[in-house]
Amino acid sequence: NYTRSSALFVQAEKVIPGGVNSPVRAFKAVGGTPIFVKEAKGAYLFDEDGNRLIDYINSWGPMILGHAHEPVVNAVVDKAKKGTSFGMPTEIETQIAELAVAMVPNIDKIRFVNSGTEACMSAVRLARGFTGKDKIIKFAGCYHGHSDSFLIQAGSGAVTFGAPNSPGVTQGTAKDTLLARYNDIENVKQLIDANPNEIACIILEPVAGNMGCIPPKEAFLEDLRSLCDAHNILLIFDEVMTGFRLAKGGAQELFNVNADIVCFGKVIGGGLPVGAFAARNEIMEYLAPLGPVYQAGTLSGNPLAMAAGLAMLTEIHNDSELFNRLEEKTAYLHKGIAEALQANNVTHTINRVGSMISVHFDKDPVVDFDSAAKGNNDTFKTFFHGLLNEGIYIAPSAFETWFITDALSYKDLDDTIA
Ligand code: PLP
Repeated sequence: NYTRSSALFVQAEKVIPGGVNSPVRAFKAVGGTPIFVKEAKGAYLFDEDGNRLIDYINSWGPMILGHAHEPVVNAVVDKAKKGTSFGMPTEIETQIAELAVAMVPNIDKIRFVNSGTEACMSAVRLARGFTGKDKIIKFAGCYHGHSDSFLIQAGSGAVTFGAPNSPGVTQGTAKDTLLARYNDIENVKQLIDANPNEIACIILEPVAGNMGCIPPKEAFLEDLRSLCDAHNILLIFDEVMTGFRLAKGGAQELFNVNADIVCFGKVIGGGLPVGAFAARNEIMEYLAPLGPVYQAGTLSGNPLAMAAGLAMLTEIHNDSELFNRLEEKTAYLHKGIAEALQANNVTHTINRVGSMISVHFDKDPVVDFDSAAKGNNDTFKTFFHGLLNEGIYIAPSAFETWFITDALSYKDLDDTIA
């Protein structure tokens, strides 16, 4: 097992770790100790013990151009030196909004918040206000952040973060959340029929990244679109993971299906805390101060975060080869993983959409934190620690999706991959 920085690990017990999916908890499940990253540059992480690791999850998603990417760093430093004030419109917020609207299909206006969770929560509130209805449909296993309505069968594999009656999940909110099976359109129809004129929106990950990169079945997104149109329900794509990653215009562009509201996080902030939600004018005008739906935030759209996001989106927008390079590198990696696992007689399934990859082992078909604690995820543990000892960092939980760090910073990786 990869076990390093034990002194730091002891100190870290004083902190409730706030990272994605709580890496400390995840590391407990797979054994070993979490990595304490001291520096990160390009595709690499450097830990406290001086080890160099390839960050294959671009630290859970945002750093698609690599760590400490110079245009992003320079933009933030420049803005910080000039000082920032909050709560006033700024030119930089306008610029990033214009760029996002140009890149993403079917949106006229965007609202910046501080995280993916906030983006999804606000999108649902907006949908409720706009439609005048309360209930929402979410899919078991799709993760939309840590707000109450979403903490029902969310996240990796079979992990259940909270059921409507569990402590910490507000009854009043969760009772309006109807749980559907991903890729099962009949199930969605049943829920709509059983709740006539009560459903405000359907929210989903267009590629179910938090279940391990499950692609939508053919026609699933189109059928959801038609159902929503027929029943005056808003379709919300949570593109926190897929946005600006699968294509410039995200999953909407890749699958050629439009949502009514789109949520962003991760990449859009260039590594700083930024989330956003966006829609056509008629929907966005329901937001205060134009309309009746309250949405605010002291640090929303703050210039430092906007500077990072703008530098990031500008690079993605201007680099016409970016997604081709990502596709090429990921296909190469995909092939390499498949060959290596076959050579070792490990039966598995690899899911891939663009630069998102997940590996599922047949031997441990469902690996979650609870079963991991009981010790029956040995295949994944072996895989994870084996890679880590070779200097390759993947998500410390099976079923998690790997993101591939971008080709710009990736050039220096070619020999390592080989
Ligand atoms: N939605 C999806 C699809 C996510 O993957 C995540 C985070 O992993 C979120 C929402 C929540 O975003 P955040 O962690 O920024 O609150």
